[in-house]
Amino acid sequence: MERIDIKSLNLEELTAQLKELGLPAFRAKQIYQWVHEKLVASFDDMTNLSKGLRDQLKERYELITLQIVDVRISQIDGTRKYLFGLPDGHIIESVLMKYKHGNSVCISSQVGCRMGCRFCASTLDGLERNLRPSEMLDQIYRIQTDLGERVSNVVVMGSGEPMDNYDNLIRFIHLLTDEHGLNISQRNITVSTCGIVPGILKLAEEDLQITLALSLHAPNDEVRKTLMPVANKYKLVDILAACHQYFVKTGRRLTFEYSLVSGVNDNLDEARALVNLIKDQQAHVNLIPVNPIKERDYVQSNQKAIQEFKGYLEKHGINVTVRREMGRDIGGACGQLRKSYMDQKKED
Ligand code: SF4
Repeated sequence: MERIDIKSLNLEELTAQLKELGLPAFRAKQIYQWVHEKLVASFDDMTNLSKGLRDQLKERYELITLQIVDVRISQIDGTRKYLFGLPDGHIIESVLMKYKHGNSVCISSQVGCRMGCRFCASTLDGLERNLRPSEMLDQIYRIQTDLGERVSNVVVMGSGEPMDNYDNLIRFIHLLTDEHGLNISQRNITVSTCGIVPGILKLAEEDLQITLALSLHAPNDEVRKTLMPVANKYKLVDILAACHQYFVKTGRRLTFEYSLVSGVNDNLDEARALVNLIKDQQAHVNLIPVNPIKERDYVQSNQKAIQEFKGYLEKHGINVTVRREMGRDIGGACGQLRKSYMDQKKED
């Protein structure tokens, strides 16, 4: 019999299941806290349960725990890149960034990705599979345990398109913000999408206070299509209307991510077009100097172009920052560490 993924169950579901085994509600709460608050990696660590009960749990449930395969720590800013092994042997990547306001973890939501963005290493081998809620959570749980410090912010911006794994994403958010678990504030969670319109509209109805980030990367559909195949499916006018709807429903200011690629989307004509496109949105623009990846020929914009682009947006009343490059000394763009690990394994 296939065992149930206990870390993906909410407290209500766990209570109902344990009731069937004749266990009282307080036991479910104890077990839930072991899993989601004390972050134990095995049933045997649940020391206030009898051995008999622990054995019973092991028979019925699986406690998904990721294995740390590699960690790289930046000597410059303390950023840590983690490679995790999943129970079925797949490898995923997560990043911890240390800021003054707290520890922030960027997690993956899928193994690989099928969106095909031209500047992204995560998509080079396509989509392998969706991550379960437990596998998304455990990236944070293992990092918090390894670091010995609380994680306060979570960004779903690693490998994968979160809207392509929608139900697991929503369950993950509810578990992560549960008062009997890590209890991370919804306002400290950001979900980044490449612009899946039905997903954005659905998320707007979830009654959540999370931040929605849109990977915009171009001021018009033509340029966007050269960078992101998803632009052939959803037009900017519809994506931005959905984003506005998200703001109306939640009151949460949006984030627009814009990777600057030299000669592709970083001149002043594009800055002007971008201002026209988003001037009526309640949004913050995050400019990202694109990380070169060896399989593509994109080059990072130079400092002068970045500052001119930023200056133009500011002059026209757009709230804008340039993303600080974190962990510069521990290897490139998101998904690249995993990619080089997998390539290395293929050669061995
Ligand atoms: S940028 Fe995001 S959506 Fe695009 S291919 Fe990479 S992981 Fe997928």
